Amino acid sequence: MHQISERFSQVQERITKACHSAGRDVREVTLIAVTKTWPPEIVGAALEVGLMDFGENKVQELVAKAPLFPTANWYMIGHLQRNKARQVVAHAREFHALDSLRLARALNRHAEQAERVLPCFVQVNVSGEDSKFGLHPPLVDELIAQMNDLEYLRLTGLMTLASPDVRKVRDEFRLLRSIQSRYVHLGCQHLSMGMSGDYEIAIEEGATHVRIGSALFGPRR
Ligand SMILES: *Cc1c(COP(=O)(O)O)cnc(C)c1O
Repeated sequence: MHQISERFSQVQERITKACHSAGRDVREVTLIAVTKTWPPEIVGAALEVGLMDFGENKVQELVAKAPLFPTANWYMIGHLQRNKARQVVAHAREFHALDSLRLARALNRHAEQAERVLPCFVQVNVSGEDSKFGLHPPLVDELIAQMNDLEYLRLTGLMTLASPDVRKVRDEFRLLRSIQSRYVHLGCQHLSMGMSGDYEIAIEEGATHVRIGSALFGPRR
């Protein structure tokens, strides 16, 4: 508890500094606390110190934790199988890992049934690593065009995971931003990028949502 509070302050300070050095307002940046692998008590402790936005990368964990903390905002940030689309619509405020038309259609169908609109971030693989999910940049255009027909999804932004090589991440974040700039007129105004190891660079390059786990909660068990 004490440690979360201290780490949260440090992260906030570094977010503030990165915003200042980039001439940005800190209110433009949402800190998503990534609680994957941590038990619900950690979410409770994080809420107590003032964190409000939580991210999970697996549906099972989202489903297990989100209903326990209905006042928190929950984000699904990881790869999703179509057969679990309904749970994301039921429990997540936003979906940050949209990477195919088939998945988009499944989410749209469940959102219609639930009578809600689901804000979606299209995940882009900017590092080119085969191990990563997300669309290769030349394929983004097609998915975004097809999303136009899906009334219950709202294109909100783009998301990426940068490569582990810190010398490359700035260029990768810039690439994501340059792709996003083509779709601003469609409402694609946000950039979900930056994790514990690279969030300051991400903020300097325009991130509106940083997804931070270990810098807040320590190494995952
Ligand atoms: C785990 C995870 C994070 C957070 O990673 P840390 O390095 O612990 O900050 C962010 N985004 C996604 C999609 C993740 O799966």
